[in-house]
Amino acid sequence: MIKKALTICLIASVLMSFTNTGDSKKPLKKAHRIHQKCLTVDTHCDTPMLMIKPGFSVRDEHKASKSRVDLPRMKSGGLDAMFFAVYTGQKPRNDENYNKTCKLANQMLDSIHAMLNKDSDLATLALKADDLARIEKTGKRAIYIGMENGFPLAKDISRVEEFYKRGVRYITLCHSYHNDICDSSSDGKPAEHNGVSEFGKQVIAEMNRLGIMIDVSHASDKSFFDAVELSKTPIIASHSSVRAIAKNDRNLTDEMIQKLAEKGGVIQICLLDAYLKEPDTTTFQYTEVKRLRKFYRANSDKLNDKEKEALFQEWDGLKAKDLKNMPGVKELVDHIDHVKNLAGIDYVGIGSDFDGGGGLRDCADVSQFPNITLELVRRGYSEKEIRKIWGGNLLRVFREVENQAEKPKSVHHLANN
Ligand SMILES: [Zn+2]
Repeated sequence: MIKKALTICLIASVLMSFTNTGDSKKPLKKAHRIHQKCLTVDTHCDTPMLMIKPGFSVRDEHKASKSRVDLPRMKSGGLDAMFFAVYTGQKPRNDENYNKTCKLANQMLDSIHAMLNKDSDLATLALKADDLARIEKTGKRAIYIGMENGFPLAKDISRVEEFYKRGVRYITLCHSYHNDICDSSSDGKPAEHNGVSEFGKQVIAEMNRLGIMIDVSHASDKSFFDAVELSKTPIIASHSSVRAIAKNDRNLTDEMIQKLAEKGGVIQICLLDAYLKEPDTTTFQYTEVKRLRKFYRANSDKLNDKEKEALFQEWDGLKAKDLKNMPGVKELVDHIDHVKNLAGIDYVGIGSDFDGGGGLRDCADVSQFPNITLELVRRGYSEKEIRKIWGGNLLRVFREVENQAEKPKSVHHLANN
């Protein structure tokens, strides 16, 4: 009875979340039926950065300009599971920054666990691939944890297990600059390790032993190929797109996608505009956004919260004025089509990067995810294929990583440590 009521509720809320595109009722009906039946997983958002701010709660429904992920909008968008990423920016590698960054990562983990305690009526911590199906039946959101940038490991291999015990189930090896684990795709300086470092090899082996997914988003091409070879298990790109469509170092080449698929991994297509469509570099908006990004990267340490918010607002304002050039779900599904045709339907999924730069013209926050399903239906994707894209493929990799871990561990009681 409760389940039936929940299902009706979900259908109603999902129905409301389609953008009116003038479609006939048939694909709309089919899309919302499939969307509500699928187990849906998004592998990347940076919302924990907001959660450490006083007064911010994912229990509240926010506007997309403030945040793109919260529990009410996850529900109305029919999103069952989100990987909350504990993101730390790369800084010079010295003891002071190692300590500060590890502290910040733990602060974000504290805020996720505090939210899960406080909002236990709406969300539950998920630690294993199969937890999702169990949690979905309760009508609550499943919250997985990822870590973006291995910088907080601070050359201390024991920290991999410490973070595992706190719930971390994937680690993005690096971010925008080279770190102790591997070279980054966007550092700008020549390679430091020529791919994965000696410490990085230990980290990958330890992740394999524990059952943590290896995430190669942000890694350089050489780091990617090293990671695929070094890992005993399939790997993921938690938020990257296709370089053959949008030339960007953050995206994977066809050769990389084929290699990833050969090893049974998955590329989670990212909703960040520049990773989906090469920007028109002649516009005023492009030049201004570039200037702001450069300023932010150089000064992010010195800016206070108010200054950062003003900068993000200016950024959003520029993007809003350029809405017609912003990619939408059509461009996103072009990337999905490409992976399907190149490697097969089993190797592609979705990783939004919401609250970290992700957001499309017609999919600006989690509540608009049904628009992606609608576009897949329009292009003739079957229900089975859509299930794979929305989580089936990612969960397959996750299970494989768990199966190959040293031994199954019950860590539920440790997750709040
Ligand atoms: Zn990222």
